[in-house]
Amino acid sequence: MNKETLQFIYKCSECGKTYAIEPGIYTCPDCTKKQKENEPLRGVLDVELSGAAPDSRDVRDFLPVPKDFFPGIPVGNTPLWSPERLQKQLGFPRLFIKDDGLNPTGSLKDRASYLVAAFARQHGIQNIIVASTGNAASSMSGVGAAAGLNITIFIPKTAPEAKMVQSLQYGARVILVDGTYDDAYELSMKYAAKNVCLNRNTAYNPLTIEGKKTAALEIFFQLGRVPDFVFVPVGDGVIISGVFKGFNDIVKLGLAKKIPTIVAVQAEGSSAICRAFNAGKFLEPLSSRTVADSISVDVPRNGFHALANLTRHHGKCLTVSDEEILTAQKQLSSTAGLFAEPAAATAFAGFMKMKAELDCSAEIVMLSTGNGLKDIVSARKGVAIPEKPVKTTGEIT
Ligand SMILES: *Cc1c(COP(=O)(O)O)cnc(C)c1O
Repeated sequence: MNKETLQFIYKCSECGKTYAIEPGIYTCPDCTKKQKENEPLRGVLDVELSGAAPDSRDVRDFLPVPKDFFPGIPVGNTPLWSPERLQKQLGFPRLFIKDDGLNPTGSLKDRASYLVAAFARQHGIQNIIVASTGNAASSMSGVGAAAGLNITIFIPKTAPEAKMVQSLQYGARVILVDGTYDDAYELSMKYAAKNVCLNRNTAYNPLTIEGKKTAALEIFFQLGRVPDFVFVPVGDGVIISGVFKGFNDIVKLGLAKKIPTIVAVQAEGSSAICRAFNAGKFLEPLSSRTVADSISVDVPRNGFHALANLTRHHGKCLTVSDEEILTAQKQLSSTAGLFAEPAAATAFAGFMKMKAELDCSAEIVMLSTGNGLKDIVSARKGVAIPEKPVKTTGEIT
C-alpha cells in the first residue's frame, strides 16, 4: 500500500458532479448559477479521495498534490498537549489543546496555504491572490515567500496591524481595503477575474478546505484514536469543514469507525452559521461585530457547506459573548501558558459554556487556531497594563 493508490477528484457538495483537480476550477459551474447575493457560496467542491490508506503518517500523503511540490517551510505537526493545571482546575483530565498557533505564520491558515502553494508549484503558477481578515493573508504571504510565489492580499484596513506588517515582511503586495472583510472579498474576486492568478479565497478554492483537514488527521494520529469532542472556532466555516473532512477521510479509509462530535463555536456578534443551524436556513446577513477579528464575517463563505456537515454529522453549535472570549483568553494564558488570539480562545470559551453538559471523563480537543501575539490590541482588553513606569531610583515592594 502506498500513496500511488490514493486517487483524488473534485465533487460538488450540492449536485455531486465530479471534476478533475485542475487550475481554473473553483466552485461547481452548474451550482454557481444558483448563486444569490448576500448568501454563502454555492457549489463548494469537496475533494473526494479513494483507494487504500497509506501506511505513512505524513499527512501530506493524504493530500491531492505530490509531496515534492510542498515548500520546505514546516507547516503542521503542531503539538497536541495536556494543559495539566487547566485539566485539574476544571475536572476534565482528558482535555487537550491542539496548538495551531505554533504554525510558521502563527495560525492554522498555514495548512491551507501550504496545499495551495504546492498546487501552484505543481502547475507552474506564479501569482496567488487572497482576501482575508488577516490570518489567511499573512499565511499565504509567508508560505508563498518560502515557495517563491508572488502574493497579493486584500485585507480590511481595520485588520490587526501585526497581520499586515507580517504580510509586508514576507514581501506580499498588500491592498488595504476601506471596508469590511466582505468588501475585501468582493474586490479580490473582481481583481482575480481580470488578472492571471490562482485564487486562494477561503471556501472558493476547494483546496483551502482540503488543506485544513490535516489538523484532524494529526489529532487522530497523535491521540491514536478519535476523541469524543472537538471544539472549533467558526467564522467562514472552512476550518470546521476541513476538520469534518479529515475525520470523514479517516473513517472512509477504514482507520476508525466514527467521527467525533464537532462543536462549532461562534462569537455572538458574528454567528451566521449558528443562526442558520437553529433556523434551518440562512437568514438575512447582519453586520458582524466581535473582538475576535478572525471570525468576524457577515456572510460566511462556506456557510452552506459547513451547515450541511454540522447537520449530517450531528455537530453542535453555540455562541459566546466577547466578554466570555476575553475571559477564556486570559484563563488559557494564565492557567495553561497558551497565549491564543481571541478567535482561537473562542473554542475554549465554547467549552466553558458547554462543560456542565459534558461527561468529565470525555476526551476533548480544543483547536487553538491562532497565536495571541497576532492581536495584542484585543489582548490588552483582558489585562491591566501598569499605569506608570517606576523610577529607577524607586524601591519595589
Ligand atoms: C480563520 C480563522 C478562524 C475561523 O476559520 P473559518 O474557516 O473562517 O471558520 C478561527 N480562528 C483563527 C485564528 C482564524 O485565523
